[in-house]
Amino acid sequence: MNNEEYYDVLIIGSGAAGLTLALSLPDSLKVAVLSKTTIEENATFYAQGGISAVIDDSDSIAAHVEDTVRTGGGLCKPETVQFIVERGRESIDWLSSKGVSFSKRRSKSGRQELHLTQEGGHSARRVVHAADKTGEAIENALVSRFRKSSVGLFENHIAIDLICSHSLPKRCDGVFVLDKSNNQIRSIGAKITVLATGGAGKVYLYTSNPDVSTGDGIAMAWRAGCRVANMEFVQFHPTCLYHPDAKSLLLTEALRGEGGILRLPNGRRFAEGYHPMGELAPRDAVAQAIDTEMKKGGYDHVYLDISHKSEDFIKKHFPNAYEGCLRFGFDLSSQPIPIVPAAHYFCGGVVTDLKGRTNIENLYSIGETGCTGLHGANRMASNSLLECLVLAESSAAAIADKLDKKSTFVKIPDWDESLVVDSEEEVVVSHNWDELRRVMWNYVGIVRSSSRLQKARRRIDLLKLEIAEFYGSYKMKSDLIELRNLVQVADLIIKSATHRKESRGLHYTLDYPESNQKYNEDTLLDPQED
Ligand SMILES: Cc1cc2nc3c(=O)[nH]c(=O)nc-3n(C[C@H](O)[C@H](O)[C@H](O)COP(=O)(O)OP(=O)(O)OC[C@H]3O[C@@H](n4cnc5c(N)ncnc54)[C@H](O)[C@@H]3O)c2cc1C
Repeated sequence: MNNEEYYDVLIIGSGAAGLTLALSLPDSLKVAVLSKTTIEENATFYAQGGISAVIDDSDSIAAHVEDTVRTGGGLCKPETVQFIVERGRESIDWLSSKGVSFSKRRSKSGRQELHLTQEGGHSARRVVHAADKTGEAIENALVSRFRKSSVGLFENHIAIDLICSHSLPKRCDGVFVLDKSNNQIRSIGAKITVLATGGAGKVYLYTSNPDVSTGDGIAMAWRAGCRVANMEFVQFHPTCLYHPDAKSLLLTEALRGEGGILRLPNGRRFAEGYHPMGELAPRDAVAQAIDTEMKKGGYDHVYLDISHKSEDFIKKHFPNAYEGCLRFGFDLSSQPIPIVPAAHYFCGGVVTDLKGRTNIENLYSIGETGCTGLHGANRMASNSLLECLVLAESSAAAIADKLDKKSTFVKIPDWDESLVVDSEEEVVVSHNWDELRRVMWNYVGIVRSSSRLQKARRRIDLLKLEIAEFYGSYKMKSDLIELRNLVQVADLIIKSATHRKESRGLHYTLDYPESNQKYNEDTLLDPQED
């Protein structure tokens, strides 16, 4: 047994969830983190708004719980919400102790205190932030601490599949990993494996997520035998820049708050026809209005127009958006900006308890990959980073406790490449990537219907077959690994959306526009019953 390739804890993912866990485990454990590109490239880095936590004296845990549950459309687990919300202050203190410099203000008595903002759904000011670059501040501070720790790091290593026992109860013993620098695959053994691989926004044509968000953790867990829940609840952000090279430039909702107008390509304003609050309607309603107009008119995008405001005002209030748009040749202060809604956040994922434990022994899942019951059918803004931190802490304690008791390494198999050859048809992979994301965008996006879901089902089934064939015949490459995971995630979303014959939270279908008590429960998918 090569001791180099065995760890007490192997964490797949270096975002807020993965790094918080890595820094919270006892130093006595041999721990490593895998990241499929660089350590900093993840959704965490791009988070803007902040982290919710009850800080102000006028706020309360009960109010934060109530807001979260109300937003969640009847599907939040109250005990989960209570558990996570109660730990908000502690999480902020922990991040501050690791060097995150949150925005401050001076209190009436002259003391420096955390500056709090308020976001949609919250009844109080409780969003702790670092200007509008909260994720960057968190990721940079955690990475800096991480680099001083003894935790191992494998960058540019992509996990392919979990290595699990065949006997029952199923147990996870490690991971097959592709080293992207030399295209070699090896197996890494671990007493505990943790999926902290983030979300799956890349399953849609337009997404605010970075390229790494391909649902790998959810797909690997499903193939290994984990239960997955609530995959139909995908949150779409209404306004991302539309430009072939701007992969994920999110244009803050505050632009509409300050008078930004949504227009069709012919200049007509349309939001008021959908909701009395027009452009200021809730995020989901605005995204639905844009999506409907785009489908009706066959448009690639619509426009966000704030050019009636002065250049000074825009530069002062929206420096990031202004500079971001300028990089792609658009001047926010003098022209309407092409925008599309974009897949932003997955409420569903691998089912876990409050310690991050899945139904497979020694396999944990935390952060956006997991589904604890915090978000229910809709996520309240800034609750997701909080969940990453709280679950990372609670799983660290559970893992340390478990490893304290007797546990041994298990011999794991080598990857078998004897039956595959180099592919000469890379175009198949890139074509399928594109087709998959278009099908999901057009048929399983913001506004769904039974016939659109059926169309998607037929196409995704074909893609699944083709990708499986490719996977079985050719040598592994990163794009193919991700494509195989994306098609799996797409399949799970379609299954879940087809099951839910009602509209609730983030799932809206034209055939069942109202909510129905009959569906007042999670959509639980079990690979054993598939
Ligand atoms: C633009 C944007 C703005 C947001 N703003 C906010 C906000 O203000 N507040 C808030 O609470 N939430 C916000 N969110 C959501 C929040 O950022 C994410 O839910 C959260 O950061 C997820 O953290 P994570 O650690 O679970 O995953 P990530 O931060 O996405 O990290 C995933 C990691 O897994 C690695 N990985 C994935 N697959 C593999 C594999 N197969 N092998 C090896 N490594 C792998 C990746 O390399 C990456 O390191 C925002 C999201 C986006 C995209």
